[in-house]
Amino acid sequence: MKAFQLIAHGKPGKFDLRDVPDPVPAADEVVVQVQSCGLNHLDLWLEEGGLPVKIPLPRTPGGEVAGRIVDLGASVQGWQRGDDVAVQSNLFCGECEFCRRGEESLCLRGQLLGVQRDGGFAEKVVVPARALVRLPAGVDYDTSAALTLAGSTAMHMLTDRAQVRPGDWVLAMGGASGVGSAAIQIAKVLGARVISTGSSEAKRDLAKRLGADFVVDTNQPDWPAEVRRITEKRGVDLVVEHIGGEVLEKVFDCLARGGTVVTCGATAGREVRLNLWPFFVKQHRLIGSYGRNRADIEKTLEWAAAGKLKPAIDSEFPLERAAEAFARLHSRQFLGKVLVIP
Ligand SMILES: [Zn+2]
Repeated sequence: MKAFQLIAHGKPGKFDLRDVPDPVPAADEVVVQVQSCGLNHLDLWLEEGGLPVKIPLPRTPGGEVAGRIVDLGASVQGWQRGDDVAVQSNLFCGECEFCRRGEESLCLRGQLLGVQRDGGFAEKVVVPARALVRLPAGVDYDTSAALTLAGSTAMHMLTDRAQVRPGDWVLAMGGASGVGSAAIQIAKVLGARVISTGSSEAKRDLAKRLGADFVVDTNQPDWPAEVRRITEKRGVDLVVEHIGGEVLEKVFDCLARGGTVVTCGATAGREVRLNLWPFFVKQHRLIGSYGRNRADIEKTLEWAAAGKLKPAIDSEFPLERAAEAFARLHSRQFLGKVLVIP
């Protein structure tokens, strides 16, 4: 089969479209014929060698897989050849104390698909059967590949790690990003008033089309002042943050008393300064969020089937042009998800 593999780290990294042996499933694994696979910032970190774990190369990236089962290991039950599936990309052991209580995002033996083992930028991928989620009727492969990683990350942030009450103000950072585009829609379904951000007019327009009530231009140096103006100086109850660096420092200026920042990423920097005085005086919370639980990805796909959550798709690239997909994500001009179609 063909696989799009990273053979040397860099920016850009060195990739090669290679012929590799078809994957053979272990007893508890299945082989999925990949129909669509979303690209995420995690793939860029792998490309650059910017992850805090050492990854042996070559490696096939791609964690946001949608496809069809074509082969099953001997002990797999409940699945058949031809079943349409999404894959929970934070692979989990299913046995540790956290997995046993349904918190796979905290698994002690977790692995990332497309990082610690070969992912979906290939014609086929082999994954543990327990990571499969059935695609509901009406959810096509592209919708799944555009929502299951980023969308379920947002679902985990907004409905598991933090809570949204009807009428709350929610600031969803980066409305044209995978997490941001889903966060806007989820917050609206939960009854929130939503502010989103974008660094270009096209990105802010997308955020509005996805349901944001207000949009803020983050090119303005004091853009948090605009958030305070919109909320009549009150500030927002929840910030959905995934950018990190200086942006994470600034979102505290957008928070109401008792407000919460939930964060799942740090594309703009992993170390931040936190002014503790307003943090404790205003009783703010900072909550980390990582991956998703099975319940989050199931809910994401259910909401997609019900039309409550729609994918924002920027572009699609065939496997042989996957390097262009990486370049597109690097360009920061994208509006929604970038997909690779093997
Ligand atoms: Zn576990």
